[in-house]
Amino acid sequence: MSSYSRNNLMQFINSKPADIEICDVTLRDGEQTPGVVFSREEKIAIAEKLDSVGVDVIEAGFPVVSPAEAAIVKEISHLGLNARICCLARSVARDIDVALACDVDFVSVFIATSDLHLKYKYHKTFEEAESCALDVLDYAKDHGLTVRFAAEDATRTDIDLLKTIFKSAEVHGADYVSIADTVGILNPSTAFYLISEIKKTVKTKVCIHCHNDLGMAVANTLSGAEAGAFQLHTTVNGIGERCGNASLEELLVGLRVQYGIERYDVGQLMELSKLVEQYSGVPIPRIKPIVGANAFSHESGIHVAAVLEEPMTYELFAPEMVGGKREFIIGKHTGSKALKGVVEKMGYNLTHDKMCMLLDRVKKCSEAKKQVTCDRLSEFIKELE
Ligand code: MN
Repeated sequence: MSSYSRNNLMQFINSKPADIEICDVTLRDGEQTPGVVFSREEKIAIAEKLDSVGVDVIEAGFPVVSPAEAAIVKEISHLGLNARICCLARSVARDIDVALACDVDFVSVFIATSDLHLKYKYHKTFEEAESCALDVLDYAKDHGLTVRFAAEDATRTDIDLLKTIFKSAEVHGADYVSIADTVGILNPSTAFYLISEIKKTVKTKVCIHCHNDLGMAVANTLSGAEAGAFQLHTTVNGIGERCGNASLEELLVGLRVQYGIERYDVGQLMELSKLVEQYSGVPIPRIKPIVGANAFSHESGIHVAAVLEEPMTYELFAPEMVGGKREFIIGKHTGSKALKGVVEKMGYNLTHDKMCMLLDRVKKCSEAKKQVTCDRLSEFIKELE
């Protein structure tokens, strides 16, 4: 049996992502989470883990921020990872020089294209910003770099202007064009539409970079992939500015479970997630998909009894698939049948009287708002013996 349930409805969907790669931006956008700074050692550990998961591209940083940041980006470029390494650059020639000195595989040159950003951030017209960005694109190409040409706030930019600038970027040799949903305004339908329109306009590979302000970043990214987006941007645990980015673990498991893309080593996701939780200091909510403490926890008597017979009754995929562990939480909702099942599964064989005493103990403990995990249950049983 597969380690996950197949969605029979998928047979009716025509637009499955054909060709994709993952660009993880934890070390750049993720570090822009308010209050988060990764040390050199932490950045290297995260990069190595992302590489062993099989992430295709690692965005290692924004080297113009500081000499130390540039040194780390350079060091990551020289780690000998399978993943290609990229870094961020503004549409400024100096940023390209700094990127070149970091020996990255490619550079992401960005320019904001929406009226709001043009007016309040750049104080420039669209044409002025465009010409500045294209000059820097030429400069980067002249220096032999692979270039991702990224439109910041692309999703609040007039779609015809966006097509114009991407078409020009293509003519100037951009290797990728990137749509940044900077404030998370997309939904799955508009993401699909926008990527489809850009795909009609350019032959260049399209990237999608989604923020999670409405909780749709992963869904929008998958929808963009269905419409033909090639490079999908993620961060571990979905960290990032404000409400974060599309979460790597949700996206990879979504790609596997929904679309059968199995080439990423999702078995290391739990470990990677814990690493980033520790280094970033951003705690993973209990109910976070894939890696939250509750993702494979069962308490209700009906669920526990069913899961003991066949876990797939209440689990979309096996916890082992992502390096997780199933947990039975014993509490006031646990019936005697489920408790007996759990106790037997743990290898104990209790008399009827002891089972009654145990159930009584469990309910009292639970009503005092104390969680009864399997470890605590073992202690209770030992006290009965
Ligand atoms: Mn971003």
